[in-house]
Amino acid sequence: MDSLFIIGILLIGVIFIIIISFLFSYRNKKIKKQIVKLSQAIKKKNQIDLNFQHKFKKLNNTELVLYFNHFNGKRMYENFSLYNACYDYLYENETEIKSIIKIIKSNINFKKEYEEEIDKSFVQTNLEIVLASKIKVKKFYKYEKEIYFSNFINPVIEFKIYLSKEYVTPAGRNSYKEAQIKTFYQILEIWETIKKDKIVKSSEEFRRKYERSLVSDKVRVQIFNRDNLTCQVCGDSKKNNNSIVLHIDHKVPIAKGGDSNLSNLWTLCKRCNLGKSDLILENIIN
Ligand SMILES: [Zn+2]
Repeated sequence: MDSLFIIGILLIGVIFIIIISFLFSYRNKKIKKQIVKLSQAIKKKNQIDLNFQHKFKKLNNTELVLYFNHFNGKRMYENFSLYNACYDYLYENETEIKSIIKIIKSNINFKKEYEEEIDKSFVQTNLEIVLASKIKVKKFYKYEKEIYFSNFINPVIEFKIYLSKEYVTPAGRNSYKEAQIKTFYQILEIWETIKKDKIVKSSEEFRRKYERSLVSDKVRVQIFNRDNLTCQVCGDSKKNNNSIVLHIDHKVPIAKGGDSNLSNLWTLCKRCNLGKSDLILENIIN
């Protein structure tokens, strides 16, 4: 009997506490609603939110998953670099990556601006208004500050690439797996490397094109005359053998850094030229 009595008392106590806390939280909610209505600071915060809402841009996807499992053997799996795979992906998807970087960079900048503005714009509501509200002054200011400094806009400022590779041995006995995550800042770093590599590559392509363009018809005639229409390797000559085909060739190939100065150009017959690896088709002459 005694223990039942104690349990009953405890139960009533618990129910009482629940009811009290429910009433208390209900009252607090009401007070907070009232504060939101009256607070000059919160009004200002809402205005700031409104101003920044359209400045933050959205991203359709905030992550990318790249999974590789087409390996012919363990060696191929081991030699496969996830960093290089990421590099290649970014290299080949320039437009997509550029737009992601642009959006996130802009969001990061505006977020900083937004937070600064919120920090410096906080001003407590006039005491007269607080007194008229019949809410305790201390409570009003406490909740006002609490509400003001919560519920921020959270723009997208992160983009991640999940990379993984997997290899299962033919019998299925062993499996190997490796995974990496690249954060936005790591992606940005790789992108900077790619940008530099692209500049080097395009300037090298430009150089090759330019060097090739220097071998004009006039230059060809000049070299043929200089070399007396004679292959500079085997000595066969157009004068002895009318059927031979003569080429103008770069001694040091353009692809290997050679230029089109006359000293780097010479006459070769087709057979000797084909023996060389870098055949320059546009210099073929019959
Ligand atoms: Zn020859």
